[in-house]
Amino acid sequence: MPSAEISTESPSTRVETPVDVLRRVFGYDSFRGSQAEIIEHVAGGGDALVLMPTGGGKSLCYQIPALLRPGVGVVISPLIALMQDQVDALRNLGVRAGFLNSTQDFEQRREVEDAFLANELDLLYLAPERLRVEATVRLLERGEVALFAIDEAHCVSQWGHDFRPDYLALSELHERWPDVPRIALTATATEATHTEIAQRLNLGEAKHFVASFDRPNIQYRIVPKSGAQKQLLDLIRAEHPGDAGIVYCLSRASVEKTAQFLSDNGIPAVPYHAGLDARTRAKNQSRFLREDGLTVVATIAFGMGIDKPDVRFVAHLDLPKSVEGYYQETGRAGRDGQPSTAWLAYGLQDVVQQRKMIDLSEGDQAHRRKLGTHLDAMLALCETISCRRVQLLNYFGQTGQPCGNCDTCLLPPESWDGTIPAQKLLSTVLRLDRERDQRFGAGQVIDILLGKKTEKITQHRHDQLTVYGIGTDLSEQTWRGVVRQLLAQGLLAVEGDFGTLALTPASGEVLGRTREVKLRREPERAARTSSTGTGTKTRKPAIEMPAEAAPIFEALRAWRASAAKEQGVPAYVIFHDATLRQIAAESPSSLEKLGTISGVGENKLAKYGQEILDTLESLN
Ligand code: ADP
Ligand code: ZN
Repeated sequence: MPSAEISTESPSTRVETPVDVLRRVFGYDSFRGSQAEIIEHVAGGGDALVLMPTGGGKSLCYQIPALLRPGVGVVISPLIALMQDQVDALRNLGVRAGFLNSTQDFEQRREVEDAFLANELDLLYLAPERLRVEATVRLLERGEVALFAIDEAHCVSQWGHDFRPDYLALSELHERWPDVPRIALTATATEATHTEIAQRLNLGEAKHFVASFDRPNIQYRIVPKSGAQKQLLDLIRAEHPGDAGIVYCLSRASVEKTAQFLSDNGIPAVPYHAGLDARTRAKNQSRFLREDGLTVVATIAFGMGIDKPDVRFVAHLDLPKSVEGYYQETGRAGRDGQPSTAWLAYGLQDVVQQRKMIDLSEGDQAHRRKLGTHLDAMLALCETISCRRVQLLNYFGQTGQPCGNCDTCLLPPESWDGTIPAQKLLSTVLRLDRERDQRFGAGQVIDILLGKKTEKITQHRHDQLTVYGIGTDLSEQTWRGVVRQLLAQGLLAVEGDFGTLALTPASGEVLGRTREVKLRREPERAARTSSTGTGTKTRKPAIEMPAEAAPIFEALRAWRASAAKEQGVPAYVIFHDATLRQIAAESPSSLEKLGTISGVGENKLAKYGQEILDTLESLN
């Protein structure tokens, strides 16, 4: 038995069960959700398809079966840049882990290959493109594979938002290794993606495990955009000072500008996008993982597989292209289960820009339709007047109750009858459309409604139109909201390069008075007190600590920082905050007592136990 050291501590010990491994290696008391069921199934040789939200605890679902089964667990992961950290974290737990990817030289690779063949590894991480190399396949055939874990399995789906061609080749695993169990895992899956994963990975016989996609500790907030950078700064200052966070922007330029803006205002922030050279990217990512309280401003190129547990906020300054993407990106907040914020600022310009991008995108009609469907679902989430969480869950085919922890639950927006404003706006667009030679965007339309005297108005004689000045009862801000929501509802369209507004077939129903228009009124209170949404603070940590434990916690954090630095690993690889908090609260006086704390397993107890007791002792 290759995992002999794992399964028998002494000749008299019985074979370990999954929960024994959970306690001894990981130091946790009990399984969460369906972990136990999944582990049992895979350890017994069955295939599995696991859909579980970020932070749900997917890793244990393949790590423990790999420790229980003879041979090496092979993990396919697209996240080359994170493999070193993943392997370091496992080694800290006493698990024998290695990886093979393009960052290694010949010698390093050779060492790992030898360890694999000698069955001296529990887990081997591989990038998917490695499997295209015949030599890798031969290597795997010469050794003993305990299981294949296919992480980020949604990458095989062309319908989804993160397709990677190398994943398609993974369908062959089953033919080459018919007796080795496979477990595919992902944190994003609509019905369509779910089906596609099962098909493309040849998982016909697999058992499906679908967890609830709810992330109750994340507070979802979507606010109207008005000076997004300033709104973001207010949010961080008011609710997340000193916290780690991720800010997503659509373009490289706005990534750079926003990172600079935050830094200039005293918020430590670094940029991350595909235009930076690989070294800078790696450095910024590593700083994010290792330092406390750093914000990364990034395009969506950043974040997949980042398992930093204490990201306290994820902010979007531009509208995400799909609910799946939004859900995955926001899911990077609060993996440790502590209260966290998902905040999105969204405005008219986002809708115009995204519709334009879809029109100009390459690919056939069907592809554009797919993009349009994704965008519509995202817009519906933004404009909903009911619970955001319920809407998100519905998108993933699940149900829920109004959550009490999203902006629409905390400050319910009203809906109002926008039929007349919509008619005014659509008639204006209709009149302009008749001026064939010229095309106008939202700005001009609103200026006409408000009866403004701009150069462009005079030049085109728009003050002669019958609709000129018929909209002075509403503010410019409100009009922008009307345009945005009509776009979202498909009652208005944008065309061409300049975001020209145009009517849709459904506009006719509004103009012909056969259709009412319901609009969302942004909650007044929120608008007056802050521009960041609810402004509610739910910052109470899940693990409570008495006040006198605070200095102990700080001392433990200082110890952890130096231990992490010495080893060159992120601090959370040593211990999570939650574990340190519990140690501070209980102040254990012996190794035995320390070993009962969640997150303190056998190896970490042996490695750090004495240092922790010494740290506690030194405070007395
Ligand atoms: P995912 O890969 O699904 O995003 P992880 O596997 O990274 O989630 O787990 C999220 C966090 O929860 C990790 O810090 C992990 O150590 C912790 N965790 C997982 N399972 C358990 C458990 N049964 N008890 C306590 N903590 C757990
Ligand atoms: Zn809610």
